[in-house]
Amino acid sequence: MKKMSKFFSEKFASLEAYTPGEQPKDMKYIKLNTNESPFAPSPSVIKAAEEEAGRLQLYSDPELTPLVAKLAELYGVDKENVIATNGSDEVLNFAFMAFSDDSHPIIFPDITYGFYPVFANLSGIPYEEIPLKEDFTVDYRDYVGKGKNIVIANPNAPTGLALTLSEIEEIVRTNPDNVVIIDEAYVDFGGESAIPLTKKYDNLLVTGTFSKSRSLAGARLGFGIASKEIIRDLNTIRYSTNPYNVNRMTMMAGCAALDDNDYYMQNCKTVMENRAYTKSRLQALGFSVLDSKANFLFAKSPDISGEELYLSLKSRGILIRHFKKERIKDYNRITIGTRAEMDAFLSATENILKEKKQ
Ligand SMILES: *Cc1c(COP(=O)(O)O)cnc(C)c1O
Repeated sequence: MKKMSKFFSEKFASLEAYTPGEQPKDMKYIKLNTNESPFAPSPSVIKAAEEEAGRLQLYSDPELTPLVAKLAELYGVDKENVIATNGSDEVLNFAFMAFSDDSHPIIFPDITYGFYPVFANLSGIPYEEIPLKEDFTVDYRDYVGKGKNIVIANPNAPTGLALTLSEIEEIVRTNPDNVVIIDEAYVDFGGESAIPLTKKYDNLLVTGTFSKSRSLAGARLGFGIASKEIIRDLNTIRYSTNPYNVNRMTMMAGCAALDDNDYYMQNCKTVMENRAYTKSRLQALGFSVLDSKANFLFAKSPDISGEELYLSLKSRGILIRHFKKERIKDYNRITIGTRAEMDAFLSATENILKEKKQ
């Protein structure tokens, strides 16, 4: 039996909410479980948020003017092609609400961001999960000419594997009467962005976030880039739910983060170096590790189950993410942190494996 009040609407009776990665408070963990940045925001971002705190008696600017202008400039589009939201989860939810319904179902991979089926169920949208290939890749041909709305995380989570830009274009080109959403939460860690294709195709929505590459997970800031028509529709949903969706401090923090773009892209480079280092050390310990283009690795060991490794590391103060889904239950997703954090994770893992062999 599910816990709900007698007042809860029937339409949500079977809704299964998203389960966020754990944020335990019982002790201080090395957190490699929710793909946050290991680096603090840059000093100018902290200063911008602090300064804005003194104006919190005033509503935020619903047009988010300076932020939208800076995003447009960075990505080489017009401001009418940009929407800013409370995390990219919000723009994704808006897009599900705006473009999908009984006669416009949506499809996505069976192994991907766990929020997609939740958004679909929340809005009563029929959806179909397309199985990844045996090697966990998305086969773009499964999405060609489908005549359905599509959402694909690229790079995908939790695998880290990415499609090429020409594969994405083929999906977008062959579904002209449907919206194709490309979720680029991890694109700054080595993927190819589809944003330039939004100029050519009016059915493409690319979403991004400040949570992973720009050290602002706790501020909640995301964005969407698409044709003016798609952005207008998303704004209709936004103004129908919460026109003040991005608060003042977050908007100013976001602007400062874009001014400091070099700092964040340098951090991404560091994460990519630490990813290569961690991958080769895990392989030396016998793990198979997917070819990640994101700020995490997806790996499994022949010597220990995914769940046991997760639990053993947790008891040693290190959190990684384990999923119970049958197809991926042997794997763990390990967020890439600083070199010191990765060394702590690697030596704990090595010790756990050694103890098991004794
Ligand atoms: C983290 C993540 C998001 C959204 O994060 P926000 O913090 O809401 O911006 C979206 N898609 C994927 C695949 C993610 O991993």
